Amino acid sequence: MSSPLLEVRDLIVHFYTREGVVKALDGVMLSVGRGEIVSLVGETGSGKTVTALSIMRLLDHNARIVRGEVLFEGRNLLQLSEEEMRRIRGREISMIFQEPKSALNPVLTVGFQLREALEAHGEEGEAALEKVLSMLRRVGLPDPERLVNRYPHELSGGMAQRVMIAMALLMRPKLLIADEPTSALDVTVQAQILELIQSLVREMNTSVLFITHDLGVAAEISDRIAVMYAGVVVEQGNVYDVFEEPLHPYTRGLLAAIPRPGRELMAIEGEVPSLLNPPSGCRFHPRCPAVMEVCKRVKPRLVEVEPGRLVACHLYGGE
Ligand code: SF4
Repeated sequence: MSSPLLEVRDLIVHFYTREGVVKALDGVMLSVGRGEIVSLVGETGSGKTVTALSIMRLLDHNARIVRGEVLFEGRNLLQLSEEEMRRIRGREISMIFQEPKSALNPVLTVGFQLREALEAHGEEGEAALEKVLSMLRRVGLPDPERLVNRYPHELSGGMAQRVMIAMALLMRPKLLIADEPTSALDVTVQAQILELIQSLVREMNTSVLFITHDLGVAAEISDRIAVMYAGVVVEQGNVYDVFEEPLHPYTRGLLAAIPRPGRELMAIEGEVPSLLNPPSGCRFHPRCPAVMEVCKRVKPRLVEVEPGRLVACHLYGGE
């Protein structure tokens, strides 16, 4: 098998706050293959965005990467200079966010911002304008010649997200990181944007790390899925396998909490732990219906239980 485009290995990230040290990521393991769409799912605060920002090297100043590697085409991004990283952002890896309007500069026209993104990578003049217009057409925005002269506040949420997608894909990056790109939009626009991302990335053979708290969205868009809980990836696998037969007790709980006709709704008991003082051993142990003595002491490793299927739980080994 060829090596993955992106591989996050044993990533540990802490934040130094007034309240103490927040142990946000505790050995995250994750991979994205070429042309693959991988969803990173989990509740708010599980570490999905911190993982994305670590890959992009855009963490806040109070963050510290304690350990780990972020391998992109085999190169560890955590060891590159800021200058090398700037060349990678936008050209090789780009990112779209939940609130497209806050990612756009309110005082500059759409056209100016798109051209600026190209100029940052050395593309200028008429050819750059043509590229901008053609990309705006590809993301389904009508009348791009007029649109380039408009300001972000003149756009609807859906239009602004299409502009962001155009900007992110202008340089034909190898990897797109999409952080909850549809959660601020209403349901019909959400579906259109998902479809757009899916068709464009397939066409361009771009890989995607798609971050969402919505399992329905993950099921719709992804090839593979990685489930996060309290700063740890607890399960990874093909989207059909994980939904058909979840292995980790947390994934089982998450899926059981989705309302389905004729089935009783089951909420996961207990609360998400504080990462200032996370539980010992398996971070899910205080809430786990299958907890054993070993779970309280020993952190389970992510092990491959069948090809491409990984789980971090003592029920499947991992000591
Ligand atoms: Fe539950 Fe133990 Fe598995 Fe953690 S390691 S999910 S506590 S059985």
